[in-house]
Amino acid sequence: MNILFNKKIRENVCGICGNVSDNGIIIKGNLICPNCEIDILNTEPGDNEYDDYVHKIKNILK
Ligand SMILES: [Zn+2]
Repeated sequence: MNILFNKKIRENVCGICGNVSDNGIIIKGNLICPNCEIDILNTEPGDNEYDDYVHKIKNILK
């Protein structure tokens, strides 16, 4: 119905999870969506996800 009006002008794809998000933090032109930001903040060394996030963030920063 209002597809044209609702269409996003630009789409940001999260560099971590690949989901499209309108907000979040931008690191070197890569978006990290709020969900991933929270996940990263709640992940500590030793968690299963920690190495995965470190790896993905390194990919964004290089
Ligand atoms: Zn994400």
